[in-house]
Amino acid sequence: MSFTSDISIVTQALNQFYSDTLAKAKPVLNQQELDHIVADLKLEHYAQNGGLANRDLKQFLDKYLSYVTRLHHANNLGHQCAPPHYSSALGSLVTGFANTVSSIYEMGPASVSLEYFVINWMLEKVGWEKVRIRGNSRHAMSTSGGGVLVNGGSIANLTALTIARSKVVPEVWKTGSPSNLALLLPAESHYALTKAAGIMGIGAQSIYYIDGDETGAIRPDSIPGTFKKVMDDGKIPIALAANACSTSVGIYDPLDEIGDFCRENKLWFHVDGAHGASALLSDKHMGLLKGVQKADSLVWDAHKLLQTPSLCAALLVRNMEHLDQGFQIHQNASYLFHEKHQPGFDSIHRTIETTKSGLGEKFFFVLAGLGEKGLARYIDNQYQLAQEAYTYIREHPNFECPISPQSNILCFRIKGDNALQLHIRNHLTKEGTFYLTTVAFKEKRYLRLVFMSENTTLETVKELVSEIMELSKGIRD
Ligand SMILES: *Cc1c(COP(=O)(O)O)cnc(C)c1O
Repeated sequence: MSFTSDISIVTQALNQFYSDTLAKAKPVLNQQELDHIVADLKLEHYAQNGGLANRDLKQFLDKYLSYVTRLHHANNLGHQCAPPHYSSALGSLVTGFANTVSSIYEMGPASVSLEYFVINWMLEKVGWEKVRIRGNSRHAMSTSGGGVLVNGGSIANLTALTIARSKVVPEVWKTGSPSNLALLLPAESHYALTKAAGIMGIGAQSIYYIDGDETGAIRPDSIPGTFKKVMDDGKIPIALAANACSTSVGIYDPLDEIGDFCRENKLWFHVDGAHGASALLSDKHMGLLKGVQKADSLVWDAHKLLQTPSLCAALLVRNMEHLDQGFQIHQNASYLFHEKHQPGFDSIHRTIETTKSGLGEKFFFVLAGLGEKGLARYIDNQYQLAQEAYTYIREHPNFECPISPQSNILCFRIKGDNALQLHIRNHLTKEGTFYLTTVAFKEKRYLRLVFMSENTTLETVKELVSEIMELSKGIRD
């Protein structure tokens, strides 16, 4: 085995994978039976005998990559997961090999520095104060904006709600959670939030949904009524969480007005921008997040719209103190938590993770490769394509769209019942011709496109529409 020869095998295999994907020489999806894949890749053989190098490595990779869902494929309209730019994959390779740890400064000064830079870059885009370093203890950051990179938007949302709870119930780490905590959510919120609430002991009965308009966006005039109900029920609201944008249909809540209400009522304002906060890079679309500065916390995933491999999510806060006081841990881990003189700082007391891989690298490599203007161009293109696809599909007599898209997510349905939509998706994904999802919105099932691949064009959408027309004829006959 040799690193340089094996890595060139990996490079060649990925290069072939990528050019096949761009040429549409392979299907976007290739879902074989799990047992078949386990056997075909000879997993048991390699586990017993080792030897995954040289020719074996090449054969293994060719097979392995044939079962990979191709996110760069033009016909990938499936999930919100980034087709990563290759430069960000290089960042992942580097941090994977060096195994940089970013939770303790001495374990990864380079990683912590990159994370610090990335967090500050994001804070600036939000319009919050950058992190200021004071002294060199682990309490190095003072009252300014702040944040931390974590493994995904779900953990970032859980972190946000955790620190909101610490603010609302300062003694919570001693006494445990009161049983009457509550959370206010938009009707179209991501289930990561209800999951986080459940983990924190806030059950479904203590989640209060705020009415939305016809697009599903929070109606500001319905917030006071929902808030009053929470109070009348004798509950303590830990936060109101808004979408920027919603996962189902990609709509932004009116953050400016929500922010005013939360300030007046001293309610923690959390913005779930896992998908759509990246619009802050775009001069054209940043207005969708107007008022985001009024939030107390914001989740922003790089592995969605910032061409970064999974996972790299930021939890940003307007006031660093809240994050610092969010986890009041008095654990017996004296090898980790002690005052030490060091030229940087630790973030271990601000995260759910203990060991945390280098996450700044993943995003920094693409930021440094494309520059922020390059990333903005990508976002503009993807949002624009959703608009063009909307115009095209809406004018087609056999199709309908529930709403005009605000982001790169577009929902539509072919005239017919809910079962027909599901049938069409199942057919397409089974054949591997197009990868798309479906979503229930206002009690109807829609086909859902997320424009993530740079290789998708309006031509792709036209091909999809005619494929769906063909399929629906077959189904109806
Ligand atoms: C994707 C998404 C999440 C979950 O984030 P992960 O990174 O997948 O854990 C949460 N909220 C919204 C709005 C999302 O789009």
